[in-house]
Amino acid sequence: MCSRSYGNSPPEGLGVYIHIPFCVRKCPYCGFASVATENIPERAYTEALLKELSMLVEEESLHKSVVDTIYLGGGTPSLLGPSSVETIIDGVLNSLPAPATPEVSMEVNPGTVDKERLSGFRQAGINRIVIGMQSLSQEGLKTLGRIHTPEDSLEAFRNAIEAGFTNIGVDLIYAIPGQTLKGWLEELSKVIELRPHHISLYELTMEDGTPFERLHLSGSLVMPDEQTIVRMYLEGTGLLKECGYIHYEISSFAIDGYQCRHNTRYWLSEDYVGLGVGAHSWLKERRSRWQNTEDLHQYMDALATGRPPVTTKRELSRMEALTERLLMGMRLTEGVDMGKIEEEFETNLRGLPQWGYLIDEGLLEERDDTVRFTERGILLSNEILALLMRS
Ligand code: SF4
Repeated sequence: MCSRSYGNSPPEGLGVYIHIPFCVRKCPYCGFASVATENIPERAYTEALLKELSMLVEEESLHKSVVDTIYLGGGTPSLLGPSSVETIIDGVLNSLPAPATPEVSMEVNPGTVDKERLSGFRQAGINRIVIGMQSLSQEGLKTLGRIHTPEDSLEAFRNAIEAGFTNIGVDLIYAIPGQTLKGWLEELSKVIELRPHHISLYELTMEDGTPFERLHLSGSLVMPDEQTIVRMYLEGTGLLKECGYIHYEISSFAIDGYQCRHNTRYWLSEDYVGLGVGAHSWLKERRSRWQNTEDLHQYMDALATGRPPVTTKRELSRMEALTERLLMGMRLTEGVDMGKIEEEFETNLRGLPQWGYLIDEGLLEERDDTVRFTERGILLSNEILALLMRS
């Protein structure tokens, strides 16, 4: 077993997430905080992000927090020019202490980059890129309303290698209307042949208020049936494992040593701050959680007048923090250290009657203090956690 362990040695320090909310076009399934625009206020938004950071460092007394991971997500961060990306990364690294090589990730839409731009991002300090291929079928991409073709994705991958990236992730979506199990496994095989360091598989879900949700409710968008979706996940997982990828989180697979440190921080409920429209933050010791406004104009106005762009901020109760710790931690396939969690939250989950039921039903697996979902348990993870918290 060569999987790198995170459970007992979580990433230390602070993660900084930076949300870039601009897109070329709004995809009909998308529930993220993003706006389609031709005129990106690149300079003003970059300045607002850095102003938000300096306000946060003061207000939350973060001066000594060591930035271990930075993640530019969106939206479409690759719509920003390399010089803005460099300004943002330098701004973060000049405001807070950092180790010699923090993980600096960036999401890239294949329809927005060429080799020169990717080289620019590399020089700007990005050392891990995540290419949002989503599908390698032209039909699939058309259904998803994406701006790129399968060829664009393959070219972006080649260009990323030529630009010098040595840590490349690929995001894929399955359960796309019209997609078959065979077609999905063929697409996944093509991606595996590229040997990206990291692959994420996301099931297409119907997000509130999206055109896809409306079409689905009206019956004009037909998803693959439930059984096929389960097989897509399980057979996709099997294929990746056969090909040497470590399944380290429900949706995430990596060549050993290339697990995403930033996302692992979320799953272990470690500290992170989010900058930008709609970004979330969490500071563990204070159990403090807050979220920024999802409205671009409100965000810019707040920072222009020196106000925090926060819409909700509160301290989580012990029970809420415990639920979240389990909800996120159990996503990691190596499971959670239940002894540590019970001690931290002064609780005895393993003494609950439903605990024995979940073990007996083969939904949870317990070895010493480590608890994790079984393969069947992963498919019922939300229901299982709801049952545990009903006490
Ligand atoms: S590119 Fe991504 S963030 Fe932008 S609209 Fe499409 S799915 Fe949403």
